[in-house]
Amino acid sequence: MKITIVGAGAMGSMFGGMLAESGNDVTLVDIDDAQIGAIRADGLRLTTDGGDRHVKALKICRPEEAKAVPELLVVFTKTLHTSAALLGVKHLIGPEVNVLSLQNGLGNVEKIAEFALPERILIGVTTWPADMVSPGHVHSHGKGVVRLMAADGDVRPIVSQISETLSSAGLRCTSDTAVWAAIWEKVAFNAALNSICAVSGCTVDQLGLASDASRLADEVVMEVLSVAERLGIGVDPAKCKADVAGAIAHHKGHKPSMLQDVLAGRRSEIEAINGAAVAAAGRFDMKLPITQTLLALVRLVEARALA
Ligand code: NAD
Repeated sequence: MKITIVGAGAMGSMFGGMLAESGNDVTLVDIDDAQIGAIRADGLRLTTDGGDRHVKALKICRPEEAKAVPELLVVFTKTLHTSAALLGVKHLIGPEVNVLSLQNGLGNVEKIAEFALPERILIGVTTWPADMVSPGHVHSHGKGVVRLMAADGDVRPIVSQISETLSSAGLRCTSDTAVWAAIWEKVAFNAALNSICAVSGCTVDQLGLASDASRLADEVVMEVLSVAERLGIGVDPAKCKADVAGAIAHHKGHKPSMLQDVLAGRRSEIEAINGAAVAAAGRFDMKLPITQTLLALVRLVEARALA
């Protein structure tokens, strides 16, 4: 399949590398010249449980250099950069192009809909982890899955075809009409752990040092998932709380991305996570007091980090 991945950071490069290794024609698009230079010089160094290798069969360019119209365009920027990234490649997005977001957070479909036909938008969620080690070098440990569906809920052959392409690359994908529940559960998980860690400076396991932190995380999960339930989405709060407890028990030394962003003086995905949950609640006159307080506090620590 001819695939363009916009946002060639940790996730975009890992997915691009694995898709290229399985014979797809993959072009990465990014604005980071260090990443572009490193991959052009030596290919992508991909370190996974499957080995440490250089993937050479990968093209990478800046948005204005991207010319080939793909069958599938995957958006893998941070959510706050989605609109700018799509604007940069809008010359590629004709009526035949399928656009997939596996980003975290809410609001991705609405942003893509400004550029692509509604029936061409796919939405999904992934549990694959990835980290940038240095420009041109991505590390991913363990196994994940991808779940995706057409954003309008329709079951179309192209959705299965894309799912099979990802699975053939080892990315373990299923097409699944219950994706919205998984997206909301991930939003709830991240709204709890990412924001508490970003505000406190704690790693995920350090939240286990005081029982108040676990209780706070559970409250956030319940608040966020109450909005999903109001929307008629069949989420599983008990499972989500168990996932949060499991992460606190086992994710030793892990700094979630929002904490990493604050420490690096970058803006985080808080608006697409706590911010979007609070906004969605507002449409039903619902209040999420703890999620909203954490939103305000993360905005404050972000502003201090950026100042
Ligand atoms: P990242 O910061 O490593 O990569 C994002 C890339 O987007 C960067 O290389 C950046 O230069 C590029 N970019 C920014 N603006 C751009 C633009 N205008 N045009 C083109 N490229 C642009 O982020 P990541 O960790 O790969 O995460 C991507 C998304 O996947 C996020 O929504 C994240 O929450 C989600 N996610 C991440 C993980 C993970 O383990 N890293 C797991 C699941 C989901």
